[in-house]
Order: sequence, then C-alpha cells, then structure tokens
Amino acid sequence: MRALITGADGQTGSYLVEALRLRGWDVHGVRRPTSEPSPTGPTGIRWHGADLTAFTDVRDVVARVRADLVVNLAAVSSVARSWDEPVEAALVNGAAVANMLDAVLETRRDGHEPHFVQASSAEIFGDPSSSPQDESTAVAPTNPYGAAKAYAHLLVGAYRARGLSASSVILYNHESPRRPPSFVTRKITSAAARMARGLQDSMTLGNLDARRDWGWAPDYAEAIALVGEARAASDFVIATGEAHSVHDFARAALRAAGLDEDGRSIRTDPAFLRPTDAPLLVGDASRIRRELGWAPTKGFQDIVTAMVEADLAALD
Ligand code: GDP
Repeated sequence: MRALITGADGQTGSYLVEALRLRGWDVHGVRRPTSEPSPTGPTGIRWHGADLTAFTDVRDVVARVRADLVVNLAAVSSVARSWDEPVEAALVNGAAVANMLDAVLETRRDGHEPHFVQASSAEIFGDPSSSPQDESTAVAPTNPYGAAKAYAHLLVGAYRARGLSASSVILYNHESPRRPPSFVTRKITSAAARMARGLQDSMTLGNLDARRDWGWAPDYAEAIALVGEARAASDFVIATGEAHSVHDFARAALRAAGLDEDGRSIRTDPAFLRPTDAPLLVGDASRIRRELGWAPTKGFQDIVTAMVEADLAALD
C-alpha cells in the first residue's frame, strides 16, 4: 500500500510518516519544488516536488505516485499570520485542496480507488456558541486561516457527495517537541527551559485566557493513519475533550521546569494579541473513539512535561 503525504516534513507529517511506515506503508512526500528536505525531517520516504497551488504540478505527482491514500497536511499553519497574508492562506489552505481533490478524482480508473484525507481544523468553528464541538457543529470561521480551512472542509464533503472516498479530520491543537516556537506551547516550553537554566527571567505572551484543547501530536498522527487505513469516508473530530488556558499551560511548564510563578515570570504584551481569538475551543471525539477505537494516550500535564524536558535536554 502506498501513501502520498503533503506537508510530510511538518510536525504532524513527520509523525504520520513514522506511523504509516510502522504499519508497512510505502510513503511518498510532497514538498515545494525549490526546497531541500529538512535535515530533521522524516527518513525512509521518497520526495516529490510540487507547487500545490499549481494544478498541473498536483495532477502530475498524484498520477505518478498513484497512491492508495493521499493525505493533505500542507498548510500555512499560522492563524496570526493569515491576517497578514490572507490570499496566501486562501491559496494554500483552500484552493490547493481543490487541486488535490480534482487530481485524485482524475486518477480513479482501472479500479484504482484512492482515499483522500484532509487535515481540517477546529478553527473552522470560529467562536462556537456551544462546547464541546463535534462533526455537526456549524462551520463559522472568524479568521482567514479558518475561512480557507472551512472552504477546503466543505469541498471534501462535496467531492464525497460526488462519490470520492474522502475524509476530513478536524484537528484540535496538537503539540510536541517538534512544534515550531511560533506556536504558544513551544514558545512557553522553550522559555521555561531557558528560565530554568538562567538564560532569561520571564516569558512574554498575548491572550492568557484563551482556552484550547491541547493534544499530543503523535496521537493525532495515529488518528489520521486509522482514518486512512479504514477508508472511512467521513468527518472526524480529533480532540482530547479537555480545555486548558494559555495561563494554565505556562504555569504547568514553569512547574515542569522546577520553577515557581512569582508574578514576574509570565508577562503580557498586546503585540501578541490577535484581531479575533476564540475564548474556548474544545472537541468531542466520540465518533472516532466509537467507530475506529482511537483514544489519546497523553494527558495535559504529560504533554507539557515532555515538551519542557525536550527543551531542557536541547540546552544541555
Ligand atoms: P493556533 O490555535 O493554531 O493559533 O495555535 P497557537 O499556539 O499559535 O495559539 C493558541 C492560542 O494561544 C491562541 O488563542 C493565541 O491567541 C494564544 N496565545 C497567547 N499568547 C500567544 C503567543 O505569544 N503566541 C502565540 N502563537 N499564541 C499565543
């Protein structure tokens, strides 16, 4: 069985490559034609260059690899940056998915029936009026990132209605030591590690009250592998069901680094606030638990501790 993964060298992509290879899949990855494979990226994978916003590139790579499973993880991943570059978010997180679905549809001949999995996002729900959210919650994004992801999410449904085997995994925030420091969790854990080593004396964040459902990225890669293998053409929320505030995360990280919060250790700067920011996103993953037997393996404190320990080890 062969899988084609876009965004294979990102956080979740690298874990997904590992999960699929362990299951015996032949894994192919797509990266930008001009970029070199990252030295810290996944191994044992065949790379193909393609600009996902160019239909001919997408059609060529999808036809050449003729994968049984196509997973689209490539995205402009920063919600904050999507306000500065809304067109790029629309092209990469939205239009590129139309290219992929159309290209996958074209390869359906001679009995070849690929399954397509789209990495959707909790951001498609915007600022939801009820919690937890599930697959039937209204799609009502409140930022350009979420709007582009919402378009892609709805398009997956349209191609599914047309007969394509296609799924959307609605991923809540998922973290690990491989998370880039542009995300708040890794920003916090690397700051806590540096504070523990005396390299800085505080961390500066934006909205401390935002509450998010933070899961362990390898668990989310496992969920994607399960959905891909099961060829379950459906939407699935992937979440832990537990929400914690940014402030809780920062306090837990300081504790894991052996520090006390002393009133000066966590600072705020309005420069890190966003034009819109949902106060609470928390998911109900009952469907994937029930239908595919998925469950998260790491709780909140264990995720924070694993990330802080990795950041401390990187300083030693
Ligand atoms: P996102 O949910 O994909 O945007 O992931 P982030 O980790 O970037 O942001 C999660 C939450 O943390 C959002 O509600 C942010 O507003 C909040 N947050 C608070 N301070 C910061 C900060 O300094 N950096 C980032 N990236 N987010 C912050």
